[in-house]
This record gives sequence, structure tokens and C-alpha cells, in this order.
Amino acid sequence: MSLANGRSYLAIPGPSVVPDAVLRAMHRAAPNIYTGELREMMPGIIADLKRVARTEAHCAIYIANGHGIWEAALANILSPGDRLLVPATGRFAHGWSDIARRLGAEVEILDFGKRDPIDAARVAEVLRADTEHRIKALPVVYVDTSTGIRNDIAAIRAALDETGHPALLLADCIASLACDPFEMDAWGVDVTIAASQKGLMTPPGIGFVWYNDRADAARETAGCVTHYWDWRPRTDPDQLYLYFDGTAPTHHLYGLRTALDMIHDEGLDRVLARHATLARAIWAALDAWGQGGPLEVNMADHAHRSHAVTAIRLGGDRADRLRHWCEFTGGVTLGIGLGMAEPGSPEAGGFFRIGHMGHVNAHMVLGTLGVMQAGLLACDIPHGPGALDAAAAVCAAADPG
Ligand SMILES: *Cc1c(COP(=O)(O)O)cnc(C)c1O
Repeated sequence: MSLANGRSYLAIPGPSVVPDAVLRAMHRAAPNIYTGELREMMPGIIADLKRVARTEAHCAIYIANGHGIWEAALANILSPGDRLLVPATGRFAHGWSDIARRLGAEVEILDFGKRDPIDAARVAEVLRADTEHRIKALPVVYVDTSTGIRNDIAAIRAALDETGHPALLLADCIASLACDPFEMDAWGVDVTIAASQKGLMTPPGIGFVWYNDRADAARETAGCVTHYWDWRPRTDPDQLYLYFDGTAPTHHLYGLRTALDMIHDEGLDRVLARHATLARAIWAALDAWGQGGPLEVNMADHAHRSHAVTAIRLGGDRADRLRHWCEFTGGVTLGIGLGMAEPGSPEAGGFFRIGHMGHVNAHMVLGTLGVMQAGLLACDIPHGPGALDAAAAVCAAADPG
């Protein structure tokens, strides 16, 4: 028998749950792209995107998923043969590196493995050794969605400053924007990237690049920049095509407008506090289960855990069995493990992830954990007691303000 019929819940780390209000905003006839409401909406959308990234920098919007935005950010600053230093804490840093290599960059990966955050002191060592300042930029994944590790971006800025190295600092906030605290200007980030389908609660299809004047100076000589990825026309309000290199992503813009309203109506600080509390509730349950069995949060140190996504180790084929039960009998879809083991290897079924980004509340999180509790029992996976009580206690102690 399945108990899954009813409203299902997608708890994967992107695409995230799209709020009904966002879906309703998108359900409309096609608007005119040259004049009228859509065009008038654009300055407000751009101003609100800057507020979410906490920056005064320029903001370009592209019709693209995260992979496209990875390429957009690099194409505007790189020329073939330029050198990049990529500190890696999971699959996504390697994915961004692959795109850089295809653009002709020479990529040095500083790999911290899958269970440790970036060590800024080691980054500083590499920067110090680069006496000719050949390294053009450091693309850094703030939250690596495969490992759940949240890196200290300000510490990397400090490493650049203390070594006097002029490389640009790029931050991938695709998983984490409007979930984990991020301060583009205060942390000295030159280029920030994000996409619509995670913390921004809008379907996949549009992405964003915020860039400051230092990064735009690099654009001046960038040999990799192409017509489509050029960020300059996209920040020009006088463009016929309304900031887009062609037809605007009309319905996505209506959805995004509503999602940004939701974020600012709640207040960004409260949105971040909600994510922090719900993440702690999830960890409390996971830690309790782990006391009596093989379950383990991949990133041990809470200070380096993301509030948007948690990666979990179960070993054997237990994660696959648990996910299967939760999806087909419990109505909750958990995320697959990504980049933790070779696909098809005996270890591959031992990892999973919980997405807790964007439109997520206590009932969604406690419901997910309740289904997981049932799944652990049904799949005969050893686990400690008290997980649901522990998670409920975190929610109960939350500041009602
Ligand atoms: C999701 C994600 C990406 C890739 O986004 P796509 O839209 O799947 O191409 C890149 N980086 C991070 C950190 C992500 O979470």
C-alpha cells in the first residue's frame, strides 16, 4: 500500500518548492515586451535583486540555468590562457572548473575534499607563491550543494587582501542566496552568481550575475566574452530588448517579482532566521538518529553547514532504500547523493540530501522528518530515538518575533 497520495513534497536541493502565489503570478496571457507593465517592472526587480545580494553592484539577468550563469560570469572576465585558482569542497567547484577549462582557462584546483571547508590559510599560501600575479580570479562556491559545506567567503577576501593579490573574487550563491547569510559588498566579492530555482522560489530558467566596477574593468579586456554572455547590454536600461538579448523571460519575471515581494514582505533577516532555525531542527533529528546507527551529517562542524541543503551519509544502499520508501510510500522526495561516490559503485546508494531552501516552513520540515522516521523503521535501518522530539524542540524554542 502507498500512503503517498495527497500533496507530495519535493525536498531536493533545487528546483525548490514554487509558492502558489508565484505560480498564480505566472498564470497569465503573454505581455508586451516593448512597452507597458513588464518593462516598468524591471528597475524594481533589479533593485530588489541587489537588496537580496546586499550590494550596490550591477545586476545582469540571463535566460539560463546555473550552468549558463557559471559561463556568463567567467566569459566576462577571462581571456584564453588566463589562470584561475578554484578552492573545492565538492562537486560544484569541479563543475565550474570544467566550464572554465572549456573557455580556455588554466585551472588550478585546491581540493579540500568533501568533508572540510576551505582553509583560507592554504589559499593565502598559493596566492603568496604567485608572485607574478598570474591568477586572474578565484571562483568560490559559497555553499556546495553536493556536500552541504558553507565556506567562509570573507576569510578568502582577507587572504587576498593580506597577500596584496589582485585576483577577482567570484562567489557561487546559486544554492544559498536568500537562505544563508551573504553580503556581497561587505565581504568584498567582485562577482556573485545565483539562479531562480532555489532560494528565490521561481522555476528554473533565469539566472543572475552581480558584478562590481573592478570586475567590469576586467570585462574591458576579456577575450572570452561573446555576444550572448556580455553583461554590459544587460545592465543598459535603454536597450530595446529590455535588458535581455532578445525576448524577455516574460512569465519568469512575473514569478520572480512575486517571489521578491514575498522575501521583502517577510524581511530578508527573518527569511534567513527561518532557514537557520529549520536547518537546526533538521540537524537535531539527524544527530539523534545518528546516535544509534550509521546515519551521519556529512559536514560535522555546524558553523560550516549550509542552512539551505544538508548532505547525509548512510552507507551501503540504505540511502537509496530510504529515498525510495519516502518518495513512493511517504510522498516526500529526498535528494540523491551527488559526487560522493562513483556512480554505479557499491557505495553510490549510501548518500542523500535534504533541500530546505526557499518556501519552507515548520510543517514541511517536521513532515519530512516524520516520513523519514517511518522510512527508517520500514527499511530496517538502525537509528537512535528522539529525533522528532529534538526537531520539535528546536521549532518550539524559536523566537516568535
Ligand atoms: C544548482 C547549482 C548549480 C547549477 O545550477 P543548474 O541550474 O542546475 O545548472 C551550480 N552551483 C550551485 C552551488 C548549485 O547549487
